[in-house]
Order: sequence, then C-alpha cells, then structure tokens
Amino acid sequence: MNNTLDLNSISKTYNQGKPSEISVLRDVTLQIKAGEVVALVAPSGAGKSTLLHIAGLLDTADSGTVRLNDQDLSAANDKRRTQARRQDVGFIYQFHHLLPEFSALENIVLPQLANGVAQTAAEARARDLLAKVGLAARADHRPSELSGGEAQRVAFCRAMANKPTLLLADEPTGNLDPKTSDQVFAVLMDIVRETGLSALIATHNLELAHRMDRVLRLDGGRLVSE
Ligand code: ADP
Repeated sequence: MNNTLDLNSISKTYNQGKPSEISVLRDVTLQIKAGEVVALVAPSGAGKSTLLHIAGLLDTADSGTVRLNDQDLSAANDKRRTQARRQDVGFIYQFHHLLPEFSALENIVLPQLANGVAQTAAEARARDLLAKVGLAARADHRPSELSGGEAQRVAFCRAMANKPTLLLADEPTGNLDPKTSDQVFAVLMDIVRETGLSALIATHNLELAHRMDRVLRLDGGRLVSE
C-alpha cells in the first residue's frame, strides 16, 4: 500500500456523555504516502493537536484505526506503541522543548541512546544533523544560548535523530518572526525532501501550507481538502 500513515474513521470526543461533551474529531480518514508532505490548517481549538497526538500514538481514539507503515497499532499494547513511536515518528512543537541542562548535541544524542544506539554513532549522527541545519558550530551550546530559530532547528534535528518515517509538526514555526519562520521552514522542507520522509505539518500560515503537497482543513471535526 505504501502509506506511511493511514488513519481510518477516527473519532474522538472529550467528556463523553457529560453536558460539556466536545466531539473533536468525527470520522477522520487520512492517508499519507511515503514521501508526501501534508499541511493541516485549522483555527485554534479545532483539534489539530488531538489529531497529531492520535497519529503519533501519544493518544488513543474512541473509534477508528491507526496504521503506521501498514501495521495496525490502534489496539497494540503500550510497549509496542512506544516502540513504534520511538522508531517511526518524529515530533516538533511550537516551542522547542529542548532539555535546558543539556547541549544541542546532547539533546539530539539522548533519544538515540534511548533507542539503543551506541554513544559514538549517536554523536556522529547528531553532528551530521546539526551540520545539515547549519548549526555545526553550536553543538556545545545550551538551549538558553540559542536564538528561537536555532533552537527550533535543533528540535528538528532531535525529531530526526532516530530516522523516523513520519514527521508530525504542530505549528513548528508559530513562535518565530516571519523571516526566521521562512528560513526554518525552508531548512526543514529541504531535509524532509532529501530523506523522503512523510510529514503532517499543522500551521496557521497559508503561504507555508501551500508549499506542501496537499492542504487539509479541520472543519467541525471533519477533515476536508482545501
Ligand atoms: P488545536 O490543536 O487545534 O488548538 P486541540 O486538539 O488542542 O486543538 O483541542 C481541541 C478541542 O478539544 C478544544 O476545544 C480543547 O479544549 C478540547 N480538548 C483538548 N484536550 C482535551 C482534554 N484532555 N480534555 C477535554 N477537552 C480537551
């Protein structure tokens, strides 16, 4: 089938059965092919993070199936879901969430060690990724010594550390000024294209959205094509 991500009839309701019940996702079906980059556009509160968390196995749906690289993980146990997430999914958020007491390099090494990679190989990969995003000279800097755009580039390297097949990004340039946002997005897209990664990227920025392969919108809990 060659789909990196295959969501089928996903529904999610918060506070189910209570008067405050919110139906966030209604029957959402989405396939992302290998190498495809899809934009997800929706106003705040529309359910973008919920959708990304379900796709990335951080949260579960009330109904529907989640397949990553043709494996149905919807009903898999936590251990299997964690393993699939570590190996196949890279996340980037609006804020970098780098560990403040560690250097840029260490922030990219740590997830690899957690995934069983040896220290020397992990450091070599981290240096290679930092060089790709133009930050070779910042390897030993801590997050507080980096600009917002630099920190986001390091966060992107961390997301790429374990060679994921799927990148999930929640407003990855939302905290940056327009010029820096453009630069970070360009670097990110170059590397995504070069590695043939699939990506689902939530953004408010329509101009960035239209540089991706397809634009989808969440509207009243349903996913529609732009
Ligand atoms: P977005 O990322 O598009 O801003 P979210 O997916 O974060 O939207 O949230 C969608 C809706 O679901 C919002 O109305 C939010 O308040 C609600 N929501 C999100 N998480 C929870 C939760 N854990 N419990 C109850 N409501 C939630």
